[in-house]
Amino acid sequence: MELDVIQTALGGQRAVYNGVRVKTIPKPLRLFNKNRSYAFRGTVYLAPNILNGGPDEAVRTLRHEYGHTRQYARLGFCRYLFGIFLPSMTHTPREHYYSQKWEVTADAFGDVDRAGTGEAHLPGAEKDGEDYLRHLERRLDSRRQR
Ligand SMILES: [Zn+2]
Repeated sequence: MELDVIQTALGGQRAVYNGVRVKTIPKPLRLFNKNRSYAFRGTVYLAPNILNGGPDEAVRTLRHEYGHTRQYARLGFCRYLFGIFLPSMTHTPREHYYSQKWEVTADAFGDVDRAGTGEAHLPGAEKDGEDYLRHLERRLDSRRQR
């Protein structure tokens, strides 16, 4: 089912996963990034080469990016942009990438299992990620009360 969603999106047709729109990275933006899938404004954008790492990895990526749309739903535009999207796009060391505090809750919301992939979450990473999300949420609450 998830692979169908990926194939449909890669084929340029309308694809939806758990109510979320799934597309490929728009062509003009591929000049800057064509290899890293991402999620923005509640839409998942898949890298055109998403299947190169095999179907299991592609499904993990779809689930992970879906998880980012759940973060977006909780945080809104600004906090997602500065708290999740930009750190995620500018963080280059690939080691323990999915244990980063802005990444790990995307795995959790997307129900991604990385056991046995070499990308399993570091001890404590999930709690750090939840704390980070709550910290970002509180920043809006305090602004609202002013
Ligand atoms: Zn991510």
